[in-house]
Order: sequence, then C-alpha cells, then structure tokens
Amino acid sequence: MAHEDPKLSTNVEMYLETIYALTEEGGSAKTTEIASSWEVSPASATEMVQKLDKMGLVDYKPYHGARLSDDGLAAARGIIRKHRLLERFLHEVVGLEDETRIHDVACEMEHTLAPEVEAWIAKELGYPREGLNGKPIPPAEYYPNGEGSE
Ligand SMILES: [Zn+2]
Repeated sequence: MAHEDPKLSTNVEMYLETIYALTEEGGSAKTTEIASSWEVSPASATEMVQKLDKMGLVDYKPYHGARLSDDGLAAARGIIRKHRLLERFLHEVVGLEDETRIHDVACEMEHTLAPEVEAWIAKELGYPREGLNGKPIPPAEYYPNGEGSE
C-alpha cells in the first residue's frame, strides 16, 4: 500500500535499509551489528533504534535486537528496491566496475530518486528481480506511484 507518511530523513532511511539487510533472512538485528555496519558507536545505534521504535518503524527489545514493523518494512523495501535497481543501473548502463563505488553511489542516489526515474530505470533494465549481489529486488507495489505489477 502507499506509504503516506511525511518523507523520512536520509539518516532514518539508511538505518531502515541496514536493519532490512541484516534481517532479510530472518531474525533480529542486534544494535552491535547495526553499529558495526555503520561504523558508529553501539550507544548511538541503540539511541537511533529507540527513536525508530518510537516512530513505529521498528520493534526493539533490549538484548534481542530490532525488527522492522509493517510500516518500517514497507519503507525499507522501497529503499532497498531503489538501491538494488541503482546498483544494476550503475554497472550495466553507466559502466561502473568498482563494487564499493557502485554501492556508495547507489546509497547516495536512492534517497532522492524520483518515482518516475525509478520506474524508467526498472523498465530500461527489463524489470530485474535480483540485484548485482543476487539478492531479491522487492517489487514496486511496496512504494507509492510504483509501476504496479511486473
Ligand atoms: Zn543503499
């Protein structure tokens, strides 16, 4: 369904993306894992996760870690979809080769990518279902103004 909350900050989106990646195959994301994928202190990761919990985007239990709520998952899927589409685009269309560079550029662009441009990229790439790393690209129904069924 369309996610009609006001636009989330880049920082919030980055945390949701990180938690999504850490819990993609099940389980919870520990704040220590979140902290190390971000190179921030466990204390700041915990503080941010508590903030996301208050915003209703994650369920956080001390010592168990964080899981995305339904709203958090919907938002995270939209970001991950953009990230993985952009990585393919940067490699296959733009011709970037360096994996770290591709990841970093995708991570910057994903927060400002207009839905029309995202839809164009998806079409241009032939509606891929997997990212460069072989992980699934969530379908478009998870974010507003998507191109619908693929
Ligand atoms: Zn990203």
